[in-house]
Amino acid sequence: MEGLKFLVVSVVLALASSFASASDPSPLQDFCVAMKKPMVWACFKCLSHALFVNGKFCKDPQQVTEKDFFFSGFNVPRDTSSPVGSNVTAVNVAQIPGLNTLGISLARIDFAPYGGLNPPHTHPRATEILVVVEGTLYVGFVTSNLANGDNRLITKVLNPGDVFVFPVGLIHFQLNVGKTNAVALASLSSQNPGVITIANAVFGADPPINPNVLTKAFQVDKKVVDYLQKQFWTDNNN
Ligand code: MN
Repeated sequence: MEGLKFLVVSVVLALASSFASASDPSPLQDFCVAMKKPMVWACFKCLSHALFVNGKFCKDPQQVTEKDFFFSGFNVPRDTSSPVGSNVTAVNVAQIPGLNTLGISLARIDFAPYGGLNPPHTHPRATEILVVVEGTLYVGFVTSNLANGDNRLITKVLNPGDVFVFPVGLIHFQLNVGKTNAVALASLSSQNPGVITIANAVFGADPPINPNVLTKAFQVDKKVVDYLQKQFWTDNNN
């Protein structure tokens, strides 16, 4: 009986660890260059009934070219005049179809001098590793709710050449604390990491979240919630 229990527990643990994949699943072929619709000319009805499984449809490997793996212009500084003073240039499967199924992507983040901010956000599907190329950034992430109820804040001031990691799913931010522009490059462990900008998602949801929900959740006067919900929440990821 004990042996059987052990076997059942072992199988459950083995299954749990195989499902708890922190990044994208491993590909089953060299590449699967993303395409909008599958090329099934003999079966037009199939097109409308085809489903995405976990990623995009694959282009015929014989039709793949170097363009499918290429992006240019990452050296060009971006406009940081948005209200938060930053601009994220993502290079993921949407920009490079050849990234499909490969579990990796890249971002360039430009920060305005004196306080350009990449506001608190999370990537639901990726860990991020960031290197500062120019300027000085104050960066940090917050842990999930700990056993004692705390959410620990882990921060660091980074200079050119410094590298920092933001673990998958955790809320994080980067603030330019220098007098010059700042530039950082980040790699993310997903072809499609996703971004949830906290303030935008909570106060700028469309349609809006019922203010009673936010008033109670944030323990503030309803006027504060009304004010925040009236703001125009810009997205610095474009
Ligand atoms: Mn990030």
